[in-house]
Amino acid sequence: MKMMPAVFSGGGYVPVIKKEYFEWLFSELTDLVYPRRCPFCDRVLSSDEHKKLICSECEEKPKYIHSPYCFKCGKQLSDPDEEYCEDCRKRSHSFVRGVALYDYSSIRMSMYRFKYSGRAEYAEYFGRELVYSFGDLFRKWEIDAIVPVPMYSGKERVRGYNQAEKLAESIARESGIPVFTGLVKRVKNTKPMKLLGAGERAANLKNAFIIVSNDVKFNKVLLVDDIYTTGATIDAVADALMDAGVSYVYFVTLSIGAGC
Ligand SMILES: [Zn+2]
Ligand SMILES: [Zn+2]
Repeated sequence: MKMMPAVFSGGGYVPVIKKEYFEWLFSELTDLVYPRRCPFCDRVLSSDEHKKLICSECEEKPKYIHSPYCFKCGKQLSDPDEEYCEDCRKRSHSFVRGVALYDYSSIRMSMYRFKYSGRAEYAEYFGRELVYSFGDLFRKWEIDAIVPVPMYSGKERVRGYNQAEKLAESIARESGIPVFTGLVKRVKNTKPMKLLGAGERAANLKNAFIIVSNDVKFNKVLLVDDIYTTGATIDAVADALMDAGVSYVYFVTLSIGAGC
């Protein structure tokens, strides 16, 4: 629970209720109506846990991607002498490189709720964690703009939000790097990627993305998505951005699968 700010300010005849008081009241009321939940077990957080946005039992639960990981796509490697994963050794990518925070299998249920069960609020915790882990790297990469992988508009209407956009906005708030949510549009309702092989995935994504502005001035863009599997989606958006004049595309995803 946040501290209640001083209610009045100004020494004049009529006391003025401070703006911060209304903000505090609004956030307290929102928490009462929509209590904050732990992103990993979905339990309502106690007032002590509220600040951390995670419950005390779940702090050790997710499996973080750690060194050694693929220098191109960020996938977990087991051999410290390897620089790239098998997939990145076999084929080239349009993006420069990217990183992921969690091993997908360790946060599968959390990802499901984040995408399909209206738990957009998890983005606040995830964005904070992503910037805590990779903020220095984003600065080193000299990112000018954060861009979420867009969702097809019809799908977004049904789901209510695009989880990649929620993540991108949260990363922008935490890092101070500006986010551009409307820059790339998904104009094709692509089939679910998990049903397709690698070759079919690329064909499925052909001409799926367009850049809305014809005057893109960014040099280095950070793409944001919830999961990285083969990289076909990130490559397709990177191609569209580079066609519009962006020089380098990096990415960050919340999770990454173990295999290819
Ligand atoms: Zn928990
Ligand atoms: Zn790789």
